[in-house]
Amino acid sequence: MHYRLQCLMCNARYPADDPRALCDCGSLLDVAHDLAALRGSVSRQLFDSRRGEWALPYRSGVWRYRELILPVDEAAIVSRPEGNTPLYRSPRLSQWVGIDDLTLKHEGENPTGSFKDRGMTVAVTQAVRLGAQAVACASTGNTSASMAAYAALAGLRAVVFIPEGEIAYGKLAQALAYGAQTLQVRGDFDAAMRLVREVCNALGITLLNSLNPFRIEGQKAIIFELLQQRGWQPPDWIVFPAGNLGNTAAFGKALYELKEVGLIARLPRLAAVQAGGANPFYRSFLGGFRQRERVTAHTVATAIRIGNPVSYERAVRALRWTDGLVTEVSDGEIMEAKAQVDRAGIGCEPASAAAVAGARRLAAEGVIQGGRAVVAILTGHLLKDPGATVDYHLNRLEGIEATYANRPRVIEPTLEAVREALAESA
Ligand SMILES: *Cc1c(COP(=O)(O)O)cnc(C)c1O
Repeated sequence: MHYRLQCLMCNARYPADDPRALCDCGSLLDVAHDLAALRGSVSRQLFDSRRGEWALPYRSGVWRYRELILPVDEAAIVSRPEGNTPLYRSPRLSQWVGIDDLTLKHEGENPTGSFKDRGMTVAVTQAVRLGAQAVACASTGNTSASMAAYAALAGLRAVVFIPEGEIAYGKLAQALAYGAQTLQVRGDFDAAMRLVREVCNALGITLLNSLNPFRIEGQKAIIFELLQQRGWQPPDWIVFPAGNLGNTAAFGKALYELKEVGLIARLPRLAAVQAGGANPFYRSFLGGFRQRERVTAHTVATAIRIGNPVSYERAVRALRWTDGLVTEVSDGEIMEAKAQVDRAGIGCEPASAAAVAGARRLAAEGVIQGGRAVVAILTGHLLKDPGATVDYHLNRLEGIEATYANRPRVIEPTLEAVREALAESA
């Protein structure tokens, strides 16, 4: 194997197939590839030649890049297949955001409706290789939906821990439907996260949260695929929502590695966007990352309602590598941006819209300058959180003025009533 596990803090090394979740020192682990060897063996041509394959593994937008992710036998791979998500452009949305060259990469168009599938295919593949019988995660929803699907595919027992009453309906429905044992924890996400770590340790269950380094490896493929779709020409900025900071970590690692192996010459800057009510990483950023901050999180964007992000150190490193930054947006800005993304015919869940709201804010502040190429990552599908969407359009979200509400009307079943209704909104 051309990789090993390496501690982020103390640099201790472990063999590639050591089933441990953390370093002996308690810190996060990285999958460390032999980048010098890869420099000679991977190329743009290699990955381009795999485009258009119908069969696994290269049909998958993750396993297409398997040398840079997890070089395992084809037979071991558990895949839906994920990735191959589209790029969208909308003149109407660009104008609203204030960025002419704005592209959206829609990771909500993955098999279970979020980017989590990219990490899950790799983490579940590795769990099966190492003989796991059961897997678990704490989740604000999308991780549990994804894990439940991939565990079902692989024949593993799945246990999900979700904060009681704080999960969007589409996501809860998926976890139940795919057969995961679903435990609703009295407490917030951070409490569920603490509990699942203890449970996995005590009961020998494999933890599939993004502290699992193989999740991070899979999520790197968002960046690989994005760059391949752009003919390997990096944009100036990549903007995305940040909660538990798995993506922030994965994006930085992907870009760093692509440069090291010679596939790109220049790194785009990363802009991580947090909700104002769930902004520990933004606070740390303002303090020059001298201190790791924690908050009690509140936001309409449940997927990023996280007060103590697990991948903090990895994410700080990612921003250092890419000259990146962190910004924050209010729930009102998030729902406005969501209404605009939805109205453009594209659609996303609230957390994803934070990326667009953040891009708009950075453009207005002049941080993202005119003419710059910007890619915003939409992380989850519109149908994940029907409650937030309907509540917005009925102007029922507390503390949020629904500027772009599209209210349904009740009418009598007559032609006259329809004429009246159409005339009113014409
Ligand atoms: C998980 C998730 C996020 C947050 O990503 P992190 O990697 O935890 O920062 C954002 N949006 C959606 C839709 C998600 O499911």
